Amino acid sequence: MSIVTILRFARFCIFASAVACLLLPRAMTGAEAPATLILRHALIVDGSGAPAFRGDVAIRGDRIIAVGEVPFSAPTEVDLGGRILAPGFIDVHTHVEDLAEVPQAENFLRMGVTTLVTGNCGGSALDVAAFLTELEVAQPAVNLATLIGHNTVRAQVMGGSFARPPTAAELEQMRALVAAAMRDGAVGLSTGLIYLPGTFARTDEIVALAKVAAASGGLYASHMRYENARILEAIEEALQVGREAGTAVQISHIKLSSPAAWGLAPAVIARLDRARAEGVQVAHDQYLYTASSTSLGTTIPDSARAGGRERLRERLDIPEERERIRAGMRATLERGQRTDFTYAVIANFAPDPTLNGLNVPEAARRLHGSDSLDAQLDTILGIELQGGASAVFHGMSEPNLREFLALPLTMIASDSGTRRFGVGVPHPRGYGNNVRFLAHYVRDERLLGVEEAVRRMTDLPAQQFPLGRRGLIRPGFIADAVVFDLKRLSSASTFRDPHHYAEGMDHVIVAGQFAIRDGALTGVRPGRIVRREPRALPAP
Ligand SMILES: [Zn+2]
Repeated sequence: MSIVTILRFARFCIFASAVACLLLPRAMTGAEAPATLILRHALIVDGSGAPAFRGDVAIRGDRIIAVGEVPFSAPTEVDLGGRILAPGFIDVHTHVEDLAEVPQAENFLRMGVTTLVTGNCGGSALDVAAFLTELEVAQPAVNLATLIGHNTVRAQVMGGSFARPPTAAELEQMRALVAAAMRDGAVGLSTGLIYLPGTFARTDEIVALAKVAAASGGLYASHMRYENARILEAIEEALQVGREAGTAVQISHIKLSSPAAWGLAPAVIARLDRARAEGVQVAHDQYLYTASSTSLGTTIPDSARAGGRERLRERLDIPEERERIRAGMRATLERGQRTDFTYAVIANFAPDPTLNGLNVPEAARRLHGSDSLDAQLDTILGIELQGGASAVFHGMSEPNLREFLALPLTMIASDSGTRRFGVGVPHPRGYGNNVRFLAHYVRDERLLGVEEAVRRMTDLPAQQFPLGRRGLIRPGFIADAVVFDLKRLSSASTFRDPHHYAEGMDHVIVAGQFAIRDGALTGVRPGRIVRREPRALPAP
């Protein structure tokens, strides 16, 4: 052994014993560790996918300190009477940039969600430090991590939605913004490649930025360029980014969004399997509805929207341009094997809320006295010029949904924001996703066992992002937990009548404190900011 090797080995030994000192007492279950809360007589579904077992869980402060037989007592003890106790659910695909304004996040808590990842689909806070500080002050009820959004960074640096690559100086500025966000606590880079201005980015631009995220250990999460008949090209691009940047890849809300693409699920699954065999750490998330939701304006060609709404207005004023734009919209319909916009339902149009809940032909009849395709195109373009609307698109197939759900690396994520009760006609996923998963697909349809179902919402996302010692019911892990009786879970939220909270989450515990107790909100908001953190040790 050279002296350098010996020194290295000595340093390793000191480090290893320090780690052991830090971690061993947490793993002990001795009575010398006073618990603040003990949950007794639980059916523990611990997040790992292992068979459920009966036992108690002791918590001290924000940590789990013992699992199994707990021989000591605590000032607060709750008898769960054999109900399921699982780790709090982690929703890796949300859009909650306004969480500081709605810190109770009741729609998520009621679904059992205790940790959110926001900043998805390319859109995030630009100044991550300020965003996280603001949230710390607002004290949300749920934990929060954020990605840094490519569209946010590109719009900031390039000043608008330009269909050109960045100059070398612009790319350098974008890299600096991503680096700053990662330093300030972002967990990775997100893209939204159907949105402005990200849709104009070439793959090399994305690779360059993903490399910056990778340097801090961040992952790459993508709303891919295509979810239609061209989805395999889009997957290839996402995998290329992962390979060339050296990041894990998260395919956001995996789906096939039009009848023309529905037959592609086996090819998609085969490509993902091969990618993993080639060493790309690729996983995906999914919401459990066959409709998506995004802005209605995504039905208008990118080239028409480039530069913003005023540019769209100018183009529509030129007759030939106007005809080209309308032809582009018709062509998109045809490529999707559709004849009209019945599948698109207006969710929230602020200037005229009476349109909310109507599909595009219905809105066309209301506005133009006709539901002809021409009137439908006028309706969509008119709404876009008045600021745009969010919409629900009934474009997926149930068999596809089940094919993707069967994959062991599919997480359950809502793609939702915080819901403001009664506002608009939003997608029901924001009220029901996790509970619909458990009640419908697990309990009623028996597509998965409850242990595997819980793993998809807990340990799997915690490892992929990674979010530290969350996602398992184990000593030393953060005490985020949910308690429910599978038989009593229900979600009444529907597309026509979405504003119903999920029911059946009896207790929701965040960092050792009850955010919901006996089915009632406590008003306690114990959420934390979550930063990227690989697990210090393999789970015991
Ligand atoms: Zn998206």
